This record gives sequence, C-alpha cells and structure tokens, in this order.
Amino acid sequence: MLCLWIQNRLLPYRTGELPLSVSQLIRRHLRSCKHCQAALDALEAAWSSGRTLIATSAEPPAQLESRIMDVIRVLPAPKPRRVGLTRLMYFLVALTLLLVGGLAVFAAVHYHLMHP
Ligand SMILES: [Zn+2]
Repeated sequence: MLCLWIQNRLLPYRTGELPLSVSQLIRRHLRSCKHCQAALDALEAAWSSGRTLIATSAEPPAQLESRIMDVIRVLPAPKPRRVGLTRLMYFLVALTLLLVGGLAVFAAVHYHLMHP
C-alpha cells in the first residue's frame, strides 16, 4: 500500500514538485525499499533516454510563431457561457423556499390577527 503510494509520486518527487515533508517521507522510504528504489531507477533511466531522444539541433522555421498566431487570430471567438442547469435549479429551489416561507409567515400573521 505504501509502496504504491510512493511509486505514484515518484515523478513529482523527481521533478521537485512535492512538499518538503512528502519528499522527505519518500526519501526515507527509498532508503529501505528496494522495489521503490528500482522503480525510481527505471524512471531515471527512462528520463535520461527521453532526453537523449528529444535532444536535437533542429530549429523551427522562422515564420512558425507568426503562422500559428495567424491561425489563432482567425479562430471564432468563444461563445459566452450559458447559465448551467444546475445553477438555474438552485435558483428555482431557493426562490420556491423563499415564497413558501413568506406564505407561511403571512398565514401565521393573518391567523393571529383574525384569532387574537
Ligand atoms: Zn516501497
């Protein structure tokens, strides 16, 4: 159970994205658990080979950024969001409760005025 929890966090551990307390817990566990250390080693190996594969001296075409921006500029503007059904339902429920409560108060006041 702990190993699964640790192994699910090895990537953010490796990239330094975890809170210090979590990183310390993982570091302590790695010292005593061969399975998780092996998983970290495999992750490191994949990380290194990925960097090797990605490394390139190719340069993007000079006009690439302006061409991308040209495409983005002609995209249709996003449509305004409609009020969600859930929000409308909350509003209607609140309105109904308000009306029922108001009627109850009105009826109680009316009853006490008619029957002092
Ligand atoms: Zn472990």
